[in-house]
Amino acid sequence: MPNCNSSTLPIVLFDMDGTLLDLSFDDFIWNQCLPERHAQAHQCTLQQSQETLSQFYQQHKHTLSWYSSKYWTAKVGVDVLKLQQEFQHKIQPRSGCFKLLQQLKELGYRCWLVTNADQPSLKLKLENIALRPYFEVMVSSQQLGYAKEDVGFWQSLQQLHSFDPTQVVLVDDTAQVLAGAKQFGIEQLITITQPSSLKPVRELSSLNYPAINHLVELLSFLPQSQVKDVDVKTA
Ligand SMILES: [Mg+2]
Repeated sequence: MPNCNSSTLPIVLFDMDGTLLDLSFDDFIWNQCLPERHAQAHQCTLQQSQETLSQFYQQHKHTLSWYSSKYWTAKVGVDVLKLQQEFQHKIQPRSGCFKLLQQLKELGYRCWLVTNADQPSLKLKLENIALRPYFEVMVSSQQLGYAKEDVGFWQSLQQLHSFDPTQVVLVDDTAQVLAGAKQFGIEQLITITQPSSLKPVRELSSLNYPAINHLVELLSFLPQSQVKDVDVKTA
């Protein structure tokens, strides 16, 4: 790995759900809890609910609506934010999350959180998992008006917080997000092999980007600072 002065270290952009946090919470809310509550609210069978919701999911996946609790609450007649609050104890970090963030901090890296979670969901996650101290910038796609899959997101982010796309690293578990970032000009893209602890590890051959599982593995992809003499393997 090349050595860098800390002022020339890349900014590390992190996705939240499925990257720093275990996607099992979101899977539980959207694929288990919501169909059950939807079936109760609309007096239909669980299977009917799953079919209805699956159709909605297919229509809206990778759009800003998909990530909006308010949109889903209106669309399906179940308060989705309340549902997330009810089960907030299930929100968990992925393995190595805090170890990595602490090491990056010690090595002098600047970290930004860029999430498709809407602002109320982001707030709820941050109330449960203390990510805030590690981030210089935290942005929800809802604030910018574009989902991260859209090049418009990266353009708006750059207007809000200036950065050179060739001098950042993006870690994100969603292929469509990485594709949008690539189109914008971000070159260093890394994905996650197992976004949800309740689902199998994804095959490396099915992923188009370098992938990590335990988050501390990210350090081997980053240039090491000459300024601080920290052994990242043992620190
Ligand atoms: Mg994600």
